[in-house]
Amino acid sequence: MTVLADLTTSTEAFEASSTDVLETSSAEAFRSPSTPAFATPPTQVFDNRESAVRSYCRAFPVLLSSAHGTTLVAEDGTEYVDFFSGAGALNYGHNHAHIKRQVVAHLEGDGLLHALDFHTAAKREFLDRFGREILEPRGLHHRVQFCGSTGTDAVEAALKLARKHTGRTQVIAFSGAYHGVSRGSLAATADLSLRKVAGTHLGEVTHLPFPVGPRGAFPTMDLLEQYLTDDLSGVEVPAAVILEVVQMEGGVYRIPDADLRRLRDICDRYGIVLIADEIQAGCGRTGGFFSFEQAGVVPDLITVSKSIGGLGLPMSILLIREGLDSWAAGDHPGTFRGNQLAFVAACGALDLWQSQAFLDQARDGAELLRAFWENHPLPGVEVRCEGHAIGIDLTHAGGRQAADAVVAWCFERGLIVESTGRDKAVLKLLPALTMELDVLRHGCELIHEALRTALSR
Ligand code: PMP
Repeated sequence: MTVLADLTTSTEAFEASSTDVLETSSAEAFRSPSTPAFATPPTQVFDNRESAVRSYCRAFPVLLSSAHGTTLVAEDGTEYVDFFSGAGALNYGHNHAHIKRQVVAHLEGDGLLHALDFHTAAKREFLDRFGREILEPRGLHHRVQFCGSTGTDAVEAALKLARKHTGRTQVIAFSGAYHGVSRGSLAATADLSLRKVAGTHLGEVTHLPFPVGPRGAFPTMDLLEQYLTDDLSGVEVPAAVILEVVQMEGGVYRIPDADLRRLRDICDRYGIVLIADEIQAGCGRTGGFFSFEQAGVVPDLITVSKSIGGLGLPMSILLIREGLDSWAAGDHPGTFRGNQLAFVAACGALDLWQSQAFLDQARDGAELLRAFWENHPLPGVEVRCEGHAIGIDLTHAGGRQAADAVVAWCFERGLIVESTGRDKAVLKLLPALTMELDVLRHGCELIHEALRTALSR
């Protein structure tokens, strides 16, 4: 069967079940606070056997066993509405029926699962469709490099390629940035406590203040120009500038479009590779498919992971602008660069991007979120809305203590939401793009009630 025939078949199957696109849980999933949220799950094996490094399970002490749509189900049957979405890896919710069908069919048909970087049918379909349906319509003519399984692998590849291409070593990153925790990416990550754990020197990255942050606007591009034009600045012309257009772990801050365009111009003038890390902000999370689209800027290298794998399957890619693919064959190997099941799931997710029902729902959800938080201001609380990423900043309204209280209060009532940013004082709402509007509204109401309760203390 040709690729085209394959595509037709999958599209037909998709249309026949287009209601699946909208599948989610019902708003009734929320509990009365009197119901215990979790009945002492048997978690001893984790305490006894698992490394102390585990973290999310400490904030959310529940033993999860299944999930559907935007609902997580604990082993004891307790349900949780998911405003966390696997830290952005589940933009299409859990076990999306349409995507799952493609994956199950691949398994049932003994489709290849592991193939390093062999040519395979599943990879061909993904490459062909991703190029035609996502990249080309956005004027992006990038090549695709398949990296190891997780986000940091794409960041490592990007930094290494930028260095190889330019022959320079230095990189500029930004305060507030998160790019991963392997050695190269950790050097670009700004979190000092994470950096400390490296136990070694994390050199060759200079952090500049992000143009927007808790202290307001900063003339970063002026500073960068000054560094680059002053031969006594102490800052070498770098191989790359790496940024999250919307800093997510940093507390949901979007770089102003004008600053991003200026950064593009500076990079052009000095031959600096501009790397956009779309690992968390991409795949529709903050508006368009990519967070940089609205600024009309084309980055040289783009890292994509998390939700690209459709169902939360591991996948990590680097998009490489024409003329920058300076790799020689075999320069950057890795055993798990070809997760075939993730390619299949990724194609299932691409079907959603062809569905008007999905696009309408995502647009309506983002609009609902923006309208809700604009219409429900709270004293001292700043709310930053970027599509389906909402940062509720409690820095000046109770700080970390209030944020922790809201997280715990919501968890007890059946909603999972996390805190992030400086001193973990920013609540970060990451509902799936497929969350039903009434669930989304009820979730926001619950979080708002939690905020009122925490702030009244
Ligand atoms: N970049 C960004 C922007 C991220 O948010 C993350 C993960 N939170 C990473 C890189 C690293 O991805 P991973 O944890 O999959 O290595």
